[in-house]
Amino acid sequence: MPDFDVIVMGAGHNALVTAAYAAKAGLKVGVFERRHMVGGAVSTEELVPGYQFDYGGSAHILIRLTPVVRELELTRHGLHYLEVDPMFHASDGETPWFIHRDADRTARELEAIFPGQGEAYRRFLDDWTPFARSVADLFNSAPGPLDMGKMVMSSGRGRDWMEQLPRILRPYGDVAKEYFSEERVRAPLVWMAAQSGPPPSDPLSAPFLLWHPLYHEGGVARPKGGSGGLTKALKRAIEADGGQVFVNAPVKDILVKDGKAQGVRLEGGEVYTARAVVSGAHVLTTAGALPDEYVPASARQVRVGNGFGMVLRLALDGQVQYRQHTEPDSRTGLGLLIKSEQQLMKGYGEYLAGQPTSDPPLIAMSFSAVDDSLAPPGSDVLWLWAQYYPYELASGTWETRVNEARDNILNAFEHYAPGTRDRIVGELVQTPQWLETNLGLHRGNVMHLEMSFDQMFSFRPWMKASGYRWPGVGGLYLTGASTHPGGGIMGASGRNAASVLVRDLTRRRWR
Ligand SMILES: Cc1cc2nc3c(=O)[nH]c(=O)nc-3n(C[C@H](O)[C@H](O)[C@H](O)COP(=O)(O)OP(=O)(O)OC[C@H]3O[C@@H](n4cnc5c(N)ncnc54)[C@H](O)[C@@H]3O)c2cc1C
Repeated sequence: MPDFDVIVMGAGHNALVTAAYAAKAGLKVGVFERRHMVGGAVSTEELVPGYQFDYGGSAHILIRLTPVVRELELTRHGLHYLEVDPMFHASDGETPWFIHRDADRTARELEAIFPGQGEAYRRFLDDWTPFARSVADLFNSAPGPLDMGKMVMSSGRGRDWMEQLPRILRPYGDVAKEYFSEERVRAPLVWMAAQSGPPPSDPLSAPFLLWHPLYHEGGVARPKGGSGGLTKALKRAIEADGGQVFVNAPVKDILVKDGKAQGVRLEGGEVYTARAVVSGAHVLTTAGALPDEYVPASARQVRVGNGFGMVLRLALDGQVQYRQHTEPDSRTGLGLLIKSEQQLMKGYGEYLAGQPTSDPPLIAMSFSAVDDSLAPPGSDVLWLWAQYYPYELASGTWETRVNEARDNILNAFEHYAPGTRDRIVGELVQTPQWLETNLGLHRGNVMHLEMSFDQMFSFRPWMKASGYRWPGVGGLYLTGASTHPGGGIMGASGRNAASVLVRDLTRRRWR
């Protein structure tokens, strides 16, 4: 008799989602996490007394387009989402504008500040909302070989698809130029699209911009208490259905006998057996835990890239005060702080040359403006996400260059909110190397693998493994950002993997 029906390796949010669905379906589940806490890149801890620091993802956007929270009744297990509206604060430092959940209000305000651009925004949403919705549908199901075709065809739903199709195949920077003549509008939209990694000049990257309409559909939210509120609720859901979650429990080996997964051996030597094993860790970590003969060449050939973002997390003894400040809107949403498109491309150029960006565009997040449990009264937490930063540097090491990179991020923010550096009472600097060492994100890629078209849908992580099953090892399943639909706080991979796992183990539908 095995110890569990299902052993889950890693407690990232996707793995927890799979575990929660499995436990809900009546399976006996054991989750084993390497770190001292659950959540992986969706976790929060009080790193400075009185200040709650997120370790990874902070903006909960994509998960709101999935049924995960409702189906797993996460509200009952303590998840409380706070709306972030305005969702975005876009600024070059001089002329801020806001993206509200309400698309009409956004377009109206935009038109008043930049004549013609509100109308362009409206047209952009009208043109691409059907496409964006069909992309969201594809995220919520296991990828099929025809998905790319379906996505492309959906571009023409109600439109002239022969007009729309070429746009999908273009770099998103070019598509933004087709719609927005004003750079102060275009640059922040392009900067947001750059969050998945590929630069604005990459062919086939337009979908990263074209799903922008989805922000107006699902909104932006924050779990009360920090990003980790989501994963804490998932843990409670698993335990409520009889599952067990172990932390400080790194898996060393996935045990395989005669081509069938048997269980896991922990670093400490303990062995646990199960009918099935699910890995939610990075696909290279999964490969490293398997006997060599079960690791196909494709698994070693996945493209992880060379890092791309880093974060400076600050505890401030006062509130963020922008030069051009609208209270409370400026502090509420994600600050898309970028001076020009050239700033982004220059950063990308430096990155290609192996250097940390000297003057980065920033995403500024001071979510204490919507959640007073994150910082003491009258003060803020401030996260500054910046791009681009190579994991492998052309000169020096991250130990020798971390201070320079940190100072350049702060200097860049001083352009928008002077005096912020004088309010710092605590900080965490997360370089690509830090992300690898502490969160297990190989080469600092927060999306696990590069989010390029050749590694999306049924090509993620590689074609034979895209159905959430490890080829050649019966009973071994995959979930997480290494699988479709990739990185981001979404839980869709966890849910898609659960549908395959639960069907296999119970021979019935999984919900
Ligand atoms: C700094 C940062 C900022 C981000 N910002 C955003 C954002 O604002 N919005 C957004 O949508 N996304 C954001 N992301 C991306 C998003 O958070 C991640 O893509 C996503 O959370 C990945 O989740 P996952 O469950 O797939 O994998 P992971 O979170 O990577 O989980 C894998 C888990 O496996 C564990 N593990 C590894 N090896 C072992 C082992 N041997 N044994 C046991 N356990 C193991 C790890 O410790 C980890 O807990 C950000 C990520 C980072 C790092």
